[in-house]
Amino acid sequence: MRLSQMLFVTLREDPAEAEIPSHKLLLRAGYIRRIAGGVYAYLPLMWRVLQKVSQIVREEMNAAGAQECLLPQLQPAELWRESGRWDTYTKAEGIMFSLVDRQQREMGLGPTHEEVITTIARDMIRSYRQLPLNLYQIQTKFRDEIRPRFGLMRGREFIMKDAYSFDADEAGLKRQYDKMHTAYCNILKRCGLAFRAVDADSGAIGGSGSQEFMVLAEAGEDEVLYTEDGKYSANVEKAVSLPPDVEASPFTAYKKVDTPGTETIAKIAQLLKCSPTAIVKNVLYQAVFDSGRIALVLVSIRGDQDVNEVKLQNELTKLADQYGGKTLLSLTVPDAAAQEKWAAKPLPLGYIAPNLEDSYIKPPKPMPAGAIAVNPVAPKFLRLADKTAVDLKHFVTGSNEAGYHVVGANWGKEFELPKLVVDVRKAIAGDRALHDSTQTLKTARGIEIGHIFQLGTKYSQALGATYTNEQGEEKPLVMGCYGVGVSRLAQAAVEQSYDKDGIVWTAAIAPYQAIVVIPDIAKAEQVEAAEKLYAELNAAGIETLLDDRNERAGVKFKDAELIGIPYRVVTGRSLQQGKVEVVKRATKESQDVPLQDVVPTLTQWLSAAVNA
Ligand code: ATP
Ligand code: MG
Repeated sequence: MRLSQMLFVTLREDPAEAEIPSHKLLLRAGYIRRIAGGVYAYLPLMWRVLQKVSQIVREEMNAAGAQECLLPQLQPAELWRESGRWDTYTKAEGIMFSLVDRQQREMGLGPTHEEVITTIARDMIRSYRQLPLNLYQIQTKFRDEIRPRFGLMRGREFIMKDAYSFDADEAGLKRQYDKMHTAYCNILKRCGLAFRAVDADSGAIGGSGSQEFMVLAEAGEDEVLYTEDGKYSANVEKAVSLPPDVEASPFTAYKKVDTPGTETIAKIAQLLKCSPTAIVKNVLYQAVFDSGRIALVLVSIRGDQDVNEVKLQNELTKLADQYGGKTLLSLTVPDAAAQEKWAAKPLPLGYIAPNLEDSYIKPPKPMPAGAIAVNPVAPKFLRLADKTAVDLKHFVTGSNEAGYHVVGANWGKEFELPKLVVDVRKAIAGDRALHDSTQTLKTARGIEIGHIFQLGTKYSQALGATYTNEQGEEKPLVMGCYGVGVSRLAQAAVEQSYDKDGIVWTAAIAPYQAIVVIPDIAKAEQVEAAEKLYAELNAAGIETLLDDRNERAGVKFKDAELIGIPYRVVTGRSLQQGKVEVVKRATKESQDVPLQDVVPTLTQWLSAAVNA
């Protein structure tokens, strides 16, 4: 392609709309253009990158025995009602764009395709002989993200590869899952990216396991905890570890003490000269279920520890049926405005004890006989204890009175241990690992580009997708699902590889592998040599750009660096010796190569780079 004929517009300045380097660079280098919040046009250079990534994904999926298909983006509401996800996806989480067609039928734009694929399986899979099966597609997904940001990283319209496997049993699912794991590692290696596969939160769906694939980069939205022996890595949302050892409480007798101005653990520990590990901290949350009911949740946890809200959400989701619902819609720390709605009197914030009386919650308004109570707030606190709080002896905790704590308290004596003991503790860097306590957890930031998930029978049961086994029994299909964010991966590649001058693509996914630059188009010999090389390189299968614009050489070199093409060939001064200058983008190393050696040299470099 000739730059003179391309839609080629680069910007010298960083666009104000972008925060992270990859987003700035993709905008500046003319790869993408914002059309609306989280909605981008993929310009010709970007589209080539996306096609390269897609092709690598496709080849690895095919090699793993999956089959490509293309499913509809417009999906009928009934399917989502069958799985029970219509209301959560369109109303509660509101992630699904929905519409009403001219015949008043409700439809959604696919954020994911479990419902569609499971209906197909229900209709078409009858027998164990048709199993195993793995179907995938590469397609635009729609999600009305609350906070679309960072360009293609979190878009509202983005490209995903999604695959769904169907098996007769858990063992079959495990085999497909392992194949997908291998395929994902291959995809990332071929793209030339540094990554880590980590244990991931499977939400309330449960399932036997899930892993995320993280491209390592500072701007990543996710935190990964790992050990250096390579045996453990997990998303912080899911991570487990050994908490630090407890330091014995200095208090042996129970008493209430005057502790003014000690709303935080640090302050109370300092005042009482005790370790935060001798304190029970009581954290208040407000949980809203899909039934509309609200639970006020009081979590007792060891003072030096924090609550992992993802783990807490999972525990609360398990309790949804007690609140007449199926799932949890939101979990928040109630602010003053929220407290005002349900608190009967001001809460002793910073001094809450595990036994905060239920009378802090307003009773429901008295209703005329026969009317349904309108107060959605459950009248009692839902009390949970984190495992770290359970074994504490003679601990310090709040007194339910501002300015006072109690010391020397014990479960089973002054306080009743909550019946629900859970693990909702947040693992952090520096904690000792569970598998080997000599290993400590290290932290890294990552961009989640893929997620593999053992779904089990959640969707097949909900939609009645069954098969007949060898014994003639009807069984639900055992499913897995596997996603790769193709457009997010392409941007993550930039986030991992750029310098002050621009993008540094790896050879495997660069839009073009080489760019031939004519420093001065007024010089016939420069043009002639460049045209010849351009034709030869393309003929040799090296995708090559020709910068034949009427621009200064400096502008051309800057642009070539900005767009990140791996090899730049310059038909400049060294032509007099029958040579051209070849510059490697990543290292800026430059060497003069005889004209006739350019094609073989680049062919060799590229094959080494792609197979590295
Ligand atoms: P996230 O936690 O980042 O929102 P997710 O758990 O919702 O991701 P999945 O539903 O598992 O993601 O989707 C599979 C893959 O699609 C993700 O691993 C990610 O790479 C990509 N993806 C998800 N949401 C977006 C988005 N809004 N923009 C771009 N890519 C996305
Ligand atoms: Mg998401």
